[in-house]
Amino acid sequence: MSGSLKEYVNLRELARKNAAIVVQAPLSAFERVAALAITDSSAPESVIRLNLTVSEWHKGVLLAGDLEGSVGLTCQRCMDAMDFSLAGPVLLAMSEEDEEVEGLPEGCELVSLLDAGELGRTLDEVCLLPLVEDELLLRIPLVPMHGEGAACEGRARIGESSVMAEQREEIARPFSALADLMAGKGKGH
Ligand SMILES: [Zn+2]
Repeated sequence: MSGSLKEYVNLRELARKNAAIVVQAPLSAFERVAALAITDSSAPESVIRLNLTVSEWHKGVLLAGDLEGSVGLTCQRCMDAMDFSLAGPVLLAMSEEDEEVEGLPEGCELVSLLDAGELGRTLDEVCLLPLVEDELLLRIPLVPMHGEGAACEGRARIGESSVMAEQREEIARPFSALADLMAGKGKGH
C-alpha cells in the first residue's frame, strides 16, 4: 500500500495482513518541522519517505521500518546552512489503551491513542502525519551543528562554539562560587 500521510489508514486491518506501507510527503507538509527548517529555493524540496511493516502486537499494532529524508538547518557554530539527515530506523507500538507496556520490543516507543488528539482515536482510523511529525521533531537537535569531518567555518574561526563556551561557563560557575565560599571561610575564621 502506498499513499498520502494525510489520509486516515486502518492500521488494524493492515496489521492483520502484515502489510508493508510506503508513505511520503514533502517536508512542508509537516508544519512544525518546516517552521524550524531553512529553505533553499534553488534546491528541490526535501521529501520525507517511510517504509513500514504493520503487524499485530498484543491488542495494538507494531510499525517497524525506516525513514528517509533530510532537513535544512542553520549550523549554530558557523551560522551556515547544513543538510541534516533525518534518516534512521522507526519502531513504534500503537495502542488504544495506555497500560500495555509489557512485552514492548527493545528500543520501541509506545504511542497511546487515548489522548493522541489529531492522530485518531482508534487503530481503525489513524492519520500518520502527526505521528511522523513527532518522530521527525525528535530527530532534530536542539542546537544543530556541522558534524565531525564536515566543513564548518566556525570551527576553524573560533575553535569552539559560543554555545559550548556558555555551557562550560555554567558548569564552572557553581565551582567558582564554592571556591569563593571556601576562600571566605578560610579568611574569616
Ligand atoms: Zn558549521
